[in-house]
Amino acid sequence: MALHDREDDAGLDPHAESGATVRNLVAGEWREPAGDRHPVTDPGTGEQVGTVGYSTSADVDDAVAAAREAFADWSRRPVEERIQPLFRYKALLEDHQDDLAHTLATEHGKTLSEAKGELRRGIENVEVACGMPSLLKEGSGIVEQAAPEIDESGVRRPLGVFAAITPFNFPGMIPLWFMPHAVATGNTFLLKPSERDPITPARLVELAHEAGIPEGVVNLVNGGPESVNAICDHEDVAGVSFVGSTGVAKHVYERAASAGKRVQAQGGAKNHVIVSDSADLAFAAEQTVSSACACAGERCLANDVVLTMGEVYDEFAEQVVAEAAAATVGYGPDDPDVGALITSEHRDEVAGYVARAVEAGAELLHDGRDVTVDGHEDGTYMDPTVVGGVTPDMEIAREEIFGPVVALSRVDSFDEAIGTLNASDYGNAASLFTERGHEAQQFRREARAGNLAVNAGTAAPMAFYHFGGEKASFFGDLHAQADDAVRFYTDQTVYIERWPGE
Ligand code: NAD
Repeated sequence: MALHDREDDAGLDPHAESGATVRNLVAGEWREPAGDRHPVTDPGTGEQVGTVGYSTSADVDDAVAAAREAFADWSRRPVEERIQPLFRYKALLEDHQDDLAHTLATEHGKTLSEAKGELRRGIENVEVACGMPSLLKEGSGIVEQAAPEIDESGVRRPLGVFAAITPFNFPGMIPLWFMPHAVATGNTFLLKPSERDPITPARLVELAHEAGIPEGVVNLVNGGPESVNAICDHEDVAGVSFVGSTGVAKHVYERAASAGKRVQAQGGAKNHVIVSDSADLAFAAEQTVSSACACAGERCLANDVVLTMGEVYDEFAEQVVAEAAAATVGYGPDDPDVGALITSEHRDEVAGYVARAVEAGAELLHDGRDVTVDGHEDGTYMDPTVVGGVTPDMEIAREEIFGPVVALSRVDSFDEAIGTLNASDYGNAASLFTERGHEAQQFRREARAGNLAVNAGTAAPMAFYHFGGEKASFFGDLHAQADDAVRFYTDQTVYIERWPGE
């Protein structure tokens, strides 16, 4: 069915009697992929809210062919023309923010406020991409008489078809880290979202077409590893963006790079927060619990290991437990403080980390593992949980948990805190709570993570700064968002002109 002929929002309503039916969008048409259909579940109720068809490599071939065909015309259009649909897209996303947030909270489990906030952060990327004429000027200055009779300049040009492979935890934001910049720079695009909550990304792509982005410029392919590997191997894909767990990030980085593509692959995280003995402890506790437990802890910027300077450890632990105990857990669309985790298997994994930490000698200060939400007994919930006495060698201090768990450690000095943080395999984010300028300065100079924050629980960059990590949290060089995105999506050609005089 052609996109513009549809009568039922392409079957993407999770609240319709039959739930949503997520298909691929290729060359402006909703197409049934060749693989099996899989259920999409509302983790807050345990009920099926739709199905998604998985793509084969032949489906990926079709989408890449559509994007390649569209590239010839799209890349030649003036940048001013390319950004006009993005202005309309921003307005449409804002008009639909409430219904998108409701769909997102339903299929993901997070709260309505979190879903709205996530969409807002996505829309900010559309706003930045609307400024592409100015962004493309970067590095393009002309030097007259660079050599005798020669003027020299740089020109940024699109490369062709780009793909983004995205995770389940921010289905309304992460696709927008990539798609607006890719198309504003003149490339065409293929999105492969997570198979666990594919309805919101399908709506994002649907709205992009409604905003006037031409057929074939933005395509959607659903599915699992087969579609990811087909993207990595495809000779007509110029570049791949990936966001997800470290193992898959490394796999995608290596596979796509060995097929000659440019790749940016954002991986998992284990983020530390340092609480200085000078900090405002009540504020630090509130921010820490919010950072670790927002989106039920399923955030790559969750600061879930706390390095607390010895003198204030007991008082801080008390305040963290009080904050955790005060949080309300419930069904995401009802907008509690904490929503559901993505699956019951994942909740069991998180609970397993807590159990093993206790076996290894940690102290369970607040146990949120055994919780049910009235009316939603089959939902996958967990209350914020606090574990104390954690040491750097423990699994809970080293591995990504991706659940609402705060791990508290005691350190003897600020130097020890920085050393512990820097010994982590990951380098996505870190925060410091302090009232001392020199500690903030040392933290900025020495802490090794891509996103640092002082007196803020979450170091989430705005869309006009790049977003990336270090060590096992990132593979590649150019990050997502802002000027790094412009560089990722373009080649810089140097242009030399010589007109000898008479
Ligand atoms: P995931 O790695 O399971 O899935 C991400 C994508 O990879 C999905 O589209 C999925 O279909 C695909 N995929 C999964 N297994 C694959 C395989 N074996 N081969 C090929 N493709 C495969 O990640 P997730 O569980 O959806 O998301 C959570 C992870 O993402 C966490 O580790 C989190 O830290 C990370 N994340 C990182 C950032 C960041 O900015 N660094 C942002 C958000 C999420």
